Amino acid sequence: MRILVTNDDGIDSHGILALVKSMRRLGDVIVVAPDRQQSAVGHALTVSSPLRATPFYRDGAMFGYAINGTPADCVKLAVTTLLDHRPDLIVSGINHGSNTSVNAIYSGTVSAATEGTLMGIPSMAVSVSTFDETHDMSLSAEVAFTVASRLHSLELPQGTLLNVNVPSIPIEDFKGIRVTRQGHSVWEDSYDRRKDPMGREYFWLTGTFVSVKELPDADDLAVAQGYAAVTPLHYELTNFAVQEKLKNVQW
Ligand code: MN
Repeated sequence: MRILVTNDDGIDSHGILALVKSMRRLGDVIVVAPDRQQSAVGHALTVSSPLRATPFYRDGAMFGYAINGTPADCVKLAVTTLLDHRPDLIVSGINHGSNTSVNAIYSGTVSAATEGTLMGIPSMAVSVSTFDETHDMSLSAEVAFTVASRLHSLELPQGTLLNVNVPSIPIEDFKGIRVTRQGHSVWEDSYDRRKDPMGREYFWLTGTFVSVKELPDADDLAVAQGYAAVTPLHYELTNFAVQEKLKNVQW
């Protein structure tokens, strides 16, 4: 099995190394990932500047290709151009920070998997619910392995990926894997208004995550309860109920 690994935190992140180590138990791993932090870039593509693929070494060994682009760029460039063979699986992560609820929209980690499934390749995204760079990734890596080992046989339809979110808890408190849906939690946005050394104003996005607990099978609720949440996401964006309603409008 050939597995393409990517992420949005950058090829030098702690999470992608843990993911690569666990995916090597499943097959041949090829890493093509952004050369820098690309969190929250969503499905952005680079269209007006050149992309470069630079060999990236980790602990003295060739680790993969670092791309000066987005996660979606990495998947597109890898599958169409860089790789000798089409990958059997695409796994994105392990992202530092949850990609539950509305976060899945902004997430570069999820978009890399979306790009993979749009290309007809079984794809998944994995995230852990902490931004702590020193967090022990062994539980997340184990969950990634479990889900990835089943991904091919699930025969997901093209356009559907698995979005996996793992709680940042000690392994002995872990309750197992739960199949979930995208939750309805949202961000209450705010911007810090600051001054640069020249006295000019600038803004920095902050905000608080508002947990909405109305859905019993929501991804973020499962993570809060100690489960790893596995949500099938798809990118059919049409609202069919509204489409029906619009058909009755006299235009
Ligand atoms: Mn990220």
